[in-house]
Amino acid sequence: MQVPLPTYVEDCYLCPGNRRVDGQRNPAYRQTFVFENDLPCVASNAPPARRPASPLYRSADARGFARVVCYTPRHDLTLAELDEARIEALLRVWQAQYAELGDHLDVAHVLIFENKGEVVGVSNPHPHCQIYATNFVFRTIESEARVSKRHLEKTGRILFQDVIDAERRDARRLLAENDSAIAFIPYFARYAYETYVAPKETHPNIAALSKSELRDLAAILKEVLVRFDNLWRTSFPYVMTLHQAPTDGGLYPSMHFHIEFHPPLRTPTLLKYLAGPEIGGGNFLSDTSPEEKAAELQAVSTVHYKQARRSKAAGR
Ligand SMILES: [Zn+2]
Ligand SMILES: [Zn+2]
Repeated sequence: MQVPLPTYVEDCYLCPGNRRVDGQRNPAYRQTFVFENDLPCVASNAPPARRPASPLYRSADARGFARVVCYTPRHDLTLAELDEARIEALLRVWQAQYAELGDHLDVAHVLIFENKGEVVGVSNPHPHCQIYATNFVFRTIESEARVSKRHLEKTGRILFQDVIDAERRDARRLLAENDSAIAFIPYFARYAYETYVAPKETHPNIAALSKSELRDLAAILKEVLVRFDNLWRTSFPYVMTLHQAPTDGGLYPSMHFHIEFHPPLRTPTLLKYLAGPEIGGGNFLSDTSPEEKAAELQAVSTVHYKQARRSKAAGR
């Protein structure tokens, strides 16, 4: 049984009105709140690159911006528990952040991500994500850009569109779908509950989505998050990352914005360890079948278990 969290915590550095490590005070925010990370991993005044000890080695300075986005003033909620309108409002914040940060000459890429849960190293449960806007492009994005460009040149098609087509034809791994958005565990999932959430139309980044696409995406995101939590009736840990085109001035017509979830658990108590094959050998060993894991997620309710409990308690 999980102990419910309080809605406000005095020494939480993300709760409204509280002081952060650098002494600044959070405003009494009521929706979302964006601020510069007090302990940034990248900043405009980053130390200069180390001098390589050999011409074999490369080193570069990592400059940019590190921000934190609080989803809500409520300390006790998670993204899964926010209603669709709140999630949609958060998507609009992500759109604005991508556009603003991506516009900087220095910023080659904007990585928006949420680490959720103690098993991925998050000690403060206050719902928030982070943004690293950097003068370099992260490795996975670089490969997605390269591979999707090659696919477009070879076939004239968008790689992610072909993935969506394959998943819809097979249908066993689909988790949710509406007019313009879709969610599935991909055929090639590495983690047991690895899930992709995406608009069906190709857009290189989230900022390019229309109002109705954003609303549809929020609905699908909400459904996936609720299914995650309902699976074990617990707050489901994950690493969530937005994959979008670099902002380095290049053109990326082959890039299809999507959100990837990498949940680290295989069971409520069993972590997927990265060990010999993954760290030692460089290949990912999947211990489960994505069809079975998708079936588990398809079987649970789309009403969050906490909300269901509250409705029951209220006699409805
Ligand atoms: Zn808090
Ligand atoms: Zn991706």
